[in-house]
Amino acid sequence: MYTAAENRYDTMKYRRCGRSGVLLPAISLGLWQNFGLEKPLEEQRQILCRAFDLGITHFDLANNYGHPARGKAEENFGAILKSDLMPYRDELFISTKAGYDFWPGPYGNWGSRKYLIASLDSSLKRMGLDYVDVFYHHRPDPETPLEETMGALSDIVRQGKALYVGISNYQADEASRAIAILKANGTPCLIHQPRYNMFERWVEDGLLGVLDRGGVGCICFSPLAQGALTGRYLNGIPEGSRASRAGTTIGGRYLTEDKLEKIRALNGIAADRGQSLAQMALCWVLRRKEVTSVLIGASSTAQLEDNVMSLNRMEFTADELQAIENILK
Ligand code: NDP
Repeated sequence: MYTAAENRYDTMKYRRCGRSGVLLPAISLGLWQNFGLEKPLEEQRQILCRAFDLGITHFDLANNYGHPARGKAEENFGAILKSDLMPYRDELFISTKAGYDFWPGPYGNWGSRKYLIASLDSSLKRMGLDYVDVFYHHRPDPETPLEETMGALSDIVRQGKALYVGISNYQADEASRAIAILKANGTPCLIHQPRYNMFERWVEDGLLGVLDRGGVGCICFSPLAQGALTGRYLNGIPEGSRASRAGTTIGGRYLTEDKLEKIRALNGIAADRGQSLAQMALCWVLRRKEVTSVLIGASSTAQLEDNVMSLNRMEFTADELQAIENILK
């Protein structure tokens, strides 16, 4: 029977999510990979409980996580809540999403009111929850009127099935319109979830300004470029790593010769700072004041511990930032 560590709030840093009442841990944990069929439930349980012991209060899911068994991550998370974490429900901030292909036919994808409301109902059942803390629209839908999608999010809040709502993968102009509609509906957008890491910086080009002006928080996914911005691939592709698994996108996206060369150079700067490359990559995303939290994945408790230690050395000198820019350009 799990009992949470008494010192769980001693080291984590909590940052305000936009102009809301919510504080999120600087490091949050996502269940996209490693929480479906890849790992025994007991290992998943150890990772989640260790995360909570380290002050990670925010866990991020989506209806389709657990690939190829879509929904499996929510189901496993529900089982671990039931066996261990449910006594701490009020200390947890749990999110889920809908927006990608989930069930067959015309109502299980994109952004209709029909899809979002039915999907959240099924997510709550899989997790054994009465409500989630945040419900996201997972990606913009070019065909459905934004008023319909945002209206569904607002109604979900009014029904008490989510305390807050968010959007993910919305470009700056789409985000700006969504934020305005949600505000007019009386259910402000709490948070945006975009991809942001040293190799993918589109958010710097408008989106972060939109969020800052709108008082909306920002939680960045794949801050480690799926593991590429760590020591994991410095000497080839280790067995069991994400890149070694079929059907993953890390190899084509990040493990090209050109990027590996940059990764080696960045690793040198991290070593000079007395940090692992993973730690430096997380601090680099968190250097932006608009960023509330980095949303990591982890396949072991050791990775969690390594990542949380990044909070011991968050500041960069101007010279270090310039040296990083020189490598990335
Ligand atoms: P990361 O960039 O943090 O990559 C996580 C992977 O990096 C781990 O699985 C592990 O790989 C490796 N890793 C982590 N820490 C270390 C370390 N200290 N040393 C060495 N290797 C390390 O994030 P993800 O791409 O996993 O995304 C995180 C979360 O973001 C998801 O779970 C999901 O919640 C969210 N997300 C949202 C999306 C959206 O569209 N809204 C899209 C994608 C993700 P290995 O398994 O090889 O050990």
